[in-house]
Amino acid sequence: MSSATLINLSYIVASVLFILGLKMLGRQATARRGNLVSAVGMLIAVVVTLLDKQVVNFTWIVTGLVIGTVAGVICARVVKMTSMPEMVALLNGFGGLASLLVGWAEYGKIRAFGWERYLAEFAGSPVFTGTVIFLAVLIGGVTFTGSVYAFAKLAGLVSGKPVLFRGQHLVNGLLLVLTAAGGGVAIFAGDPTWVLAGFTTYLVVSLVLGWTFVMPIGGGDMPVVISFLNSLSGLAACAAGFVITNNVLIVAGCLVGTSGVILSAIMCKAMNRSLTNVLFSGFGSGVVPGGAEAGGEGAIQGELKPISPEDTFAVLEAARQVVIIPGYGMAVSQAQHQVRELADLLEQNGAEVRFAIHPVAGRMPGHMNVLLAEASVPYEQLVEMDAINPMMPTMDVAIVIGANDVVNPAAARDKSSPIYGMPIINAHEARTVICLKRGKGTGFSGIENQLFLLPNTRMLYGDAKAALQGVVGEFKSIAAA
Ligand code: NAP
Repeated sequence: MSSATLINLSYIVASVLFILGLKMLGRQATARRGNLVSAVGMLIAVVVTLLDKQVVNFTWIVTGLVIGTVAGVICARVVKMTSMPEMVALLNGFGGLASLLVGWAEYGKIRAFGWERYLAEFAGSPVFTGTVIFLAVLIGGVTFTGSVYAFAKLAGLVSGKPVLFRGQHLVNGLLLVLTAAGGGVAIFAGDPTWVLAGFTTYLVVSLVLGWTFVMPIGGGDMPVVISFLNSLSGLAACAAGFVITNNVLIVAGCLVGTSGVILSAIMCKAMNRSLTNVLFSGFGSGVVPGGAEAGGEGAIQGELKPISPEDTFAVLEAARQVVIIPGYGMAVSQAQHQVRELADLLEQNGAEVRFAIHPVAGRMPGHMNVLLAEASVPYEQLVEMDAINPMMPTMDVAIVIGANDVVNPAAARDKSSPIYGMPIINAHEARTVICLKRGKGTGFSGIENQLFLLPNTRMLYGDAKAALQGVVGEFKSIAAA
C-alpha cells in the first residue's frame, strides 16, 4: 500500500471518529466518551499530517505544542462553567485566525516562488488557489475579530448593548463590496503589485467586517452569534484545507461548519426568531414596543405579592408535586447547589420533584443542564419543555428560579408582544407559583412578565442563592426541632 493511500485511510478513520464523537455528544450519558472519541480522531489526524508533510523543522511545532498544552490545561482548570461561552468565542476566534494565517502563508509562498514555480510544485490553478486563499482569509478574518468582540461583550469588557448608527447596513454592504473587489483584483490581476494591493485590501477589510458585524448585536444574543461564528470558523478551516490540500481539514471544517449552523438554527427556533432577526435587527437596543406591558392583548391586572422564606416553606411542605424552573438568574446567583439541596429536602418530605428545562433558558444552549449537572442533580429529574407542559396543571407548586422570559405567558397569548410565539414553560398553570428574583428586573427581552401578577403567584425576593438558603434553613430547623 502506498503511503498516500495509508495517509488517506488514516484521514477517513479520523473523520469517522469525528462523526461518531459528534453523535455521542448529543446525549449526556455518552457525551464524555464522545469528546474522547473525537480527540482520538484529532490525534490521528495531527500525527498523520506531521508524518505526511515533510516538516523541515520540528522546533516550531514542539514550541506550539508546549504553549498550546499549557494554555489548554490552565483553561480547563481555571475557566468556570458559566464562562464557557466566552471561552468558546475565543477558541472560534483563534480557529479563524489560524485559517487566515494559512491563507496568508500560502500567498507569501506564491509571491516568493512566482506562479509558475508554485503551480509546478503544488498543482492547482491560479483562479482556484487564489479563490480558496481569499475565502480562508476573508472568513477567518471575520471570525477572528467578530469572536474577539463577542468575547469582550460577554466578558463585560465592552458594553453588551447593540451599537447602532444610521446607515449601518449600507456601511457593511460597502465593506463587503470592497472585500470582493480586493479578492477579484488579487485573483485575476496577475501583476504582483496589484495582487499585493488586492490581498492587503481584503485582509484588512475582513478584520474590520468581523467587528462591524458583531457591533449591532446585543449581549444576550451572543450565544447565537458565537455558534454562528463557530460555523464560520469551520468554513474558514475548510477553505484552508483546500489551500494546503489536506482532506481531513476539509472534512473537519465541514463538520464544524454544519454543526454550528444547526445549533444556531435550534436556538433561533426555540426563541421563535429568525437568524436574520438575531443578526441584523439590533434586538435589545431600546424600549420594546407593544406587549402586555403597554396594555396589549391579554394584559393582566394585579399586583406583586411578596412571600417570606417561612411562608414559602409552609407552601412547599404541603406540596406533593413540585416543578423547579431554573433560568438565567440561577446562573447569575450560582444557586445550583442550593437548588439541589432544596430538591433533596422536598423528596425526603415525600414530594416528587422535577426540573423543567427550557431550551434557551440562561444564555447558552444547555446552560441549565450544565449547572445542574455540576450540582449532581440526577439527569432523570430533568424534563424538557414539551414533556413537562402537559403535566403543569397537576403541579402543586412551580418554583421559578431566576427565569423570566421562558415563563412569560405573553409569549403564548399577547400577539403584540415581541416574544409572541416563543414556546414557554407553562408555569402559570401550576396551582401555586413561587418566583425567586431580586426585584422588578425584566428578562433578556426587556419586557414585563404578567406571570408575576397572577393571583396564584408569590414573589420570594432576593438573590436566588440567599433566598434558597433561607427556605432550606427553614426545612432544616423544623427537621432538627
Ligand atoms: P431572563 O429572561 O434573562 O430573566 C432572568 C431573570 O433573572 C431576570 O428577570 C432577573 O430579575 C433574575 N435574576 C438575575 N439575577 C438574579 C439573581 N442573582 N437572583 C435571582 N434572580 C436573578 O432569563 P430566562 O428566563 O432564562 O430567559 C433566557 C433569555 O435569554 C430568553 O429571552 C432567551 O431567548 C435569551 N437567550 C438565550 C440563549 C440561550 O442559548 N440560552 C441564547 C440567546 C438568547 P431581577 O433583576 O429582578 O433579579
